[in-house]
Amino acid sequence: MRATGRLHLGHYHGVLKNWARLQHEYECFFFVADWHGLTTEYENPGSIEQHTWDLVVDWLAAGVNPGSATLFVQSQVPEHAELHLLLSMITPLSWLERVPTYKDQQEKLKEKDLGTYGFLGYPLLQAADILIYRAGQVPVGADQVAHVELTREVARRFNHLYGREPGFEEAVAAAIKKMGKKQSRIYLNHRRQYQEQGDESALETARALVQDQQNITLGDKERLYGDLEGGGKVILPEPQALLTPASRMPGLDGQKMSKSYGNFISLREEPGEVESKIRRMPTDPARVRRSDPGDPENCPVWEFHKVYSDDATRIWVREGCTSAGIGCLDCKKPVIEAVQEEVEPIRKRAEEHLRNPDLVRSVLSDGCEEAREQARATLEEVRAVMGLHY
Ligand code: SF4
Repeated sequence: MRATGRLHLGHYHGVLKNWARLQHEYECFFFVADWHGLTTEYENPGSIEQHTWDLVVDWLAAGVNPGSATLFVQSQVPEHAELHLLLSMITPLSWLERVPTYKDQQEKLKEKDLGTYGFLGYPLLQAADILIYRAGQVPVGADQVAHVELTREVARRFNHLYGREPGFEEAVAAAIKKMGKKQSRIYLNHRRQYQEQGDESALETARALVQDQQNITLGDKERLYGDLEGGGKVILPEPQALLTPASRMPGLDGQKMSKSYGNFISLREEPGEVESKIRRMPTDPARVRRSDPGDPENCPVWEFHKVYSDDATRIWVREGCTSAGIGCLDCKKPVIEAVQEEVEPIRKRAEEHLRNPDLVRSVLSDGCEEAREQARATLEEVRAVMGLHY
């Protein structure tokens, strides 16, 4: 997540609830992308540090758990930068220029000069962020799928260029032999089925077989994965995009909730402030007077009911609104209560973390150590195959 500072309900519903779920299903790495922040904020870096702390406090408050996931700050793991540099050697410029967000963002942020090397290269930095952990899946929204695709292309090119070490075939043959007669026969049959007939399920079965092998090394396994794909050893595995459900959280004015639109409820909002923001929300313009009927479809408050209310409440809103049986303030009351109920425990936990900055610091430093260990192992192998093994 880019270092953009304190988070709001849009982030909570769109990202953090997913993270809190994913951390129990996968080995997860979540980091503050402070270098990514600099790609657009390089003229004004003063707020990045504060934004980073705010982000981590809000993650912890929203239920991201350092006991289940690894939390760290990108710039504290400088291995990301080295991998970015090494990958830049093999990445054609045209791959970066055609990433859809490159032109889009330049258009949208016209007031900034984004004709920089760092801005063009940020999808490659993202690729390094992912590949350095040899990540299997990357939780993203639909707008980021192109970046994961670029990451896959870069990994493929890298493996193609550097994966075929001298003696690869012999090493593969030895690894297959180590699997024992029966298992190696199954492996070879499935490999043939995949390579000759394109049978994806045969590929899956062979991969699972390799994964289950107890008496071959991790390096052997990687060679066998590469062998199955018909290439060399897979040094940087290609990740998949894990499409998480899109955020349905609208802003107070019905547009997407966003800091730049000023239509948000922050995760640290006081109950009184939640109430006053929702009371001031615009409603169906047709309801000029209490006695004028309205249509929920023209009202941002209805979008909140879709997120927070049960069926009975929604029926009450529909009937009351279209018949002018209820006033807009009556209608907003259950929304105010539901949002307060959601935000209050998060706000209280955030306050506790703010009172204890040492704890937050130690979460990050432990996470950073853990991340570096994995990043170093990948980089060592990358350096070696690129001829930088001194
Ligand atoms: Fe919107 Fe509710 Fe008022 Fe209808 S009654 S206009 S849904 S706030």
